Amino acid sequence: MRIVRTVRELRAELRSLRSAGAERIGLVPTMGALHEGHLSLLRAARADNDAVVLSIFVNPTQFTEASDLDAYPRDEAADAALAETAGVDLLFAPEVSEMYPAGFATTVSVRGPLTEALEGAGRGPAHFDGVATVVSKLLIAVEADSAYFGQKDAQQLLVVRRMKADLGIPTRIVACPTARDADGLALSSRNARLSAEERSRALAIPRALAAVRAAELRGERQVAELRAVALEVLQASELEPEYLAFVEPDTLEEVAAVERPVLCAVAARVGAVRLIDNMLLGREPGRPEED
Ligand code: AMP
Repeated sequence: MRIVRTVRELRAELRSLRSAGAERIGLVPTMGALHEGHLSLLRAARADNDAVVLSIFVNPTQFTEASDLDAYPRDEAADAALAETAGVDLLFAPEVSEMYPAGFATTVSVRGPLTEALEGAGRGPAHFDGVATVVSKLLIAVEADSAYFGQKDAQQLLVVRRMKADLGIPTRIVACPTARDADGLALSSRNARLSAEERSRALAIPRALAAVRAAELRGERQVAELRAVALEVLQASELEPEYLAFVEPDTLEEVAAVERPVLCAVAARVGAVRLIDNMLLGREPGRPEED
C-alpha cells in the first residue's frame, strides 16, 4: 500500500496502477478513525474493483462546531495498518493546505430541501457545503469508477448523488448498509468519545428504531403513533432527539403515514457527542436495506 499526500502524487500512482492493468478503481472517502463500518465499505470496493483508494481527511469545512473538529479522533498509523489488511492499494491522506490551498474560493453548494432538512437544519448550511465541496474534489482527483458511501449518513448520500448528477461526475455512487456493534449501536468514529454510561444510554437510539420497526410490523402506519413509540424509548434513557423524522427517502419530505418506503432518521446528543442513525420502513421484510 502506498501513502500519498498530494493530488499530484495520487494521480501519478493512479496512472501506474492503470498502466499495470487496474481497469476499475474504487474510492472510499473517510475522515479516518477507521472502524468496521469503513471496513465494510472497503470490502465492497475491493469486491467490485481492481484497485482501491482510501482517502482519510478530517474536512474542516464540514464541521460547524470547532470543539467537534478538535475532538475528532485521529490515528493515522492505526488506520494505515487497518487499510493495509483491508487490501487498500493507495491511501490518500492530504494536509488541509493540499485540499484548501491559499486563495481557495470555490464552494459546491447543493441547495433546497435535501440540505435544508434534518442535518442541514441542525448543523446549518455550511455542513453540506463542506461535504459537497470535499467529495467533489475527491471524485475529480481520483476519477474512480465507483465511490462507496454508508447508508448511516443517508442524507449525505442523497446530497452526494445530487451533486454527482448536477456536476456530471461519471463516478458510480454505491450505498452500503449501516454496520452496527453487536448491541445494535451504529458504528461511528464518535462512539470512541462516549463514556461507558453514555454508551449504554446511546443504545436507546437503535432500540427506538427497532421499536418503530416492531410497531410497523404489527401494522401501525401512522407516523404520529410511530413517533410516540420512538420518543418513549429515547426519553426513558433521557435522550431528547434533535430531530426524529419520518421522511420520503429520496426527497426528505415529511410524511404522515407509512404507505411506501419511509426513512426514519434520528439525531441525538449523548453528553457532548452528537449521534445519528436511521432505518428504512415500509419495505418488504427480507429485502436488503440498500435497495
Ligand atoms: P466518516 O469517516 O464518518 O466521514 O465516514 C466515511 C464513510 O463511512 C461515509 O460514507 C459514512 O457513511 C460511512 N460510514 C460511517 N459509519 C458507518 C457505518 N456504521 N456503517 C456503514 N458505513 C458507515
